[in-house]
Amino acid sequence: MLDLILRDARIAGGEQRPVDIGIRDGRVAAIEHGLAADAPERRLEGRLVVGGFVETHIHLDKSCILDRCNIREGTLAEAFSQTTAAKRGFTEEDIFARAAGTLTKAIVQGTTRMRTHVEIDPRIHLKGFNAMRRLKADYAWAVDLELCVFPQEGLLNDPGCEELLVEACEAGADAIGGCPYADTDPDGHVAHIFALAKRFDLDIDFHLDFDLDPSWMRLDEVMRQTDRHGWGGRVTVGHATKLSAVDTQALAAIGRRLADAGVAVTVIPATDLFLMGRDHDHNVPRGVTQAHRLAGHGVTCSLATNNVLNPFTPFGDCSLIRMANLYANVAQVGGSAEIASCLDLVTTSPAKLMNLADYGIAVGNPADVVVLDCQSSLSAVAELASPLLGFKRGRETFSRPHAVINWPNEQR
Ligand SMILES: [Zn+2]
Repeated sequence: MLDLILRDARIAGGEQRPVDIGIRDGRVAAIEHGLAADAPERRLEGRLVVGGFVETHIHLDKSCILDRCNIREGTLAEAFSQTTAAKRGFTEEDIFARAAGTLTKAIVQGTTRMRTHVEIDPRIHLKGFNAMRRLKADYAWAVDLELCVFPQEGLLNDPGCEELLVEACEAGADAIGGCPYADTDPDGHVAHIFALAKRFDLDIDFHLDFDLDPSWMRLDEVMRQTDRHGWGGRVTVGHATKLSAVDTQALAAIGRRLADAGVAVTVIPATDLFLMGRDHDHNVPRGVTQAHRLAGHGVTCSLATNNVLNPFTPFGDCSLIRMANLYANVAQVGGSAEIASCLDLVTTSPAKLMNLADYGIAVGNPADVVVLDCQSSLSAVAELASPLLGFKRGRETFSRPHAVINWPNEQR
């Protein structure tokens, strides 16, 4: 007995011929051609299905604050000062309300798994963390929300911060992040985060750097510590904009070292395009690291949203298919196969980055299925295919009507 059958679906990365997906008790129970069973069914007419988009890097707690800020320069320094000032007025209820609005947008854009970075420090205290814990519970029906706690304003320079991070880890944080460039002792910062990760058995996700000077890199220290602690496969670096400023050969060498070390990379195209290269008034560098090239060298990579409607990124609809398209365009990804592979950077690769062993449309996995209005990975990325319908553990979580054109009667 099945609870639901999704008929005539093309599974991204699977065979070309459409299949039927049988769902029972919230899990994928069968994937077959012409599945013979008596259950309610939805006909997908050959459309592409994915296991939902996987967002590895978003800041729900500081989303949607443009009405409290005034962007004049669009620089990183301004983004920091404006957001830090706005943060002083955050309450738990306010954080929850803004984050819930942003999370709802992500859900209707087809995101089923998400890691949100949550700021912890002696000023915001655990307000953001507590709001995110409520959000995680309230929206568990639609999205698996992972909370990655981190000290955005530094750690060793901020007395009391580490104690609060420990408190959050004891209260059930899912991952821990760091922001070494905001610290007066960046290497010490990295070492302390590794120690906490080890103590609480957590994956690590650093905000690594935010500039275009490749003459020095903190990446070496992260790889060294990853090796030292045997944390390969559990460490990610995001915001790695320096890697956009090295040539192809250097990137290949770094890519091979990252792959060997088991350090993953998250690229955040919208933020990088907005903030990087502000010291240029023409021929502005893009500042977007070549994730698909790194992936080609064996690095686990993801494309992520990062910020939504705040001074770091005054844009955003939480659409990861838009991010894949934006990235493919900006990174000059060419060739059908390469463009199509950008879909992996917002689905299977980020799932691997987050060590989500049960992600993907396969028998036995949770029935997380998102239907895109297209028939191939290539057109999903190239044409920004709309997510039409989504399921989380077999239950329909959102639907959006397929666009209909209304011809005048006489031309029908
Ligand atoms: Zn970030």
